[in-house]
Amino acid sequence: MTIKEYVRDKKQKLKEKIDKLSIKPCFAIVQVNDDEASNAYIRGKLKDASEVGIEAKLFKLPSNSTQDDVLKQIDVINKDDTYHGLIVQMPLPKQIDEELIKRSVYYKKDIDGFSPLSWLNACTPSGILHYLKDNNIEIKGKNAVVIGRSNIVGRPMARLLLNESANVTVLHSKTSEDDMRFYVEHADIIVVAVGKKYFLDNRFNYKKSAVIIDVGINRIDGHLYGDVVPNLDVKLQTPVPGGVGLLTRLALLNNLMEAYEDEISNS
Ligand code: NAP
Repeated sequence: MTIKEYVRDKKQKLKEKIDKLSIKPCFAIVQVNDDEASNAYIRGKLKDASEVGIEAKLFKLPSNSTQDDVLKQIDVINKDDTYHGLIVQMPLPKQIDEELIKRSVYYKKDIDGFSPLSWLNACTPSGILHYLKDNNIEIKGKNAVVIGRSNIVGRPMARLLLNESANVTVLHSKTSEDDMRFYVEHADIIVVAVGKKYFLDNRFNYKKSAVIIDVGINRIDGHLYGDVVPNLDVKLQTPVPGGVGLLTRLALLNNLMEAYEDEISNS
């Protein structure tokens, strides 16, 4: 089953569940940056929501908004029970402190899982983990290598794999090429989130049984490329596009459902 088919199936099941709910799950998006990439991501999130019957509202602030304007908008949504989730679309204009904004989203509504206080997992690692488990990829006791250590992908991915009892190694820009080769060639699962076109290529001898999850999204001359050269000789390699991006979007819907169920059970 392709990732597209996997996600379609999961969304169909989610829709059937939401159709039976009298109060619909609902989230808000706060947008401050009016760039084309942000607009495209937001369109995707709104489309996903409407396909499964989730309600979503976009609060679009001018890109010259002050930090205070954004904090006030977040505060209003934090306090409004109509919204079970709240996303602030990143990146934000440079006059605004992104880390402060991430921390200001009420932790129970932080469906992106970006804040260190959030009780939900960041969407990209969470989407990847569910995909691995749903496809019966063995994780326990396996050598998992995560390349990249960002707060939104690499680090939370490593933590989730460790929680599943993988032997986890995190590599980054200070890792030597020799060490990179050693760890990559011993890996059963490789998650690459570096942001460099075809960072992983044929220079390594991957295990034929390896599973490679390509998180990278590199836009070059209007084309999308992953961090991994296509068609490596491994058991499974996720495509770009049509791979982790879809899993991330699915994970956002699932995080909203968790926030919704928590809110409903406590009200
Ligand atoms: P990031 O914050 O820029 O982090 C990149 C990481 O790669 C850093 O930890 C960096 O190491 C490491 N790195 C850079 N050059 C390296 C090298 N030569 N060897 C080994 N490690 C190297 O990026 P991010 O936010 O994690 O995103 C990574 C990629 O995933 C981007 O292409 C992004 O667009 C994509 N992404 C996709 C999704 C999705 O849904 N598909 C979601 C999020 C991100 P240092 O820490 O040492 O600098």
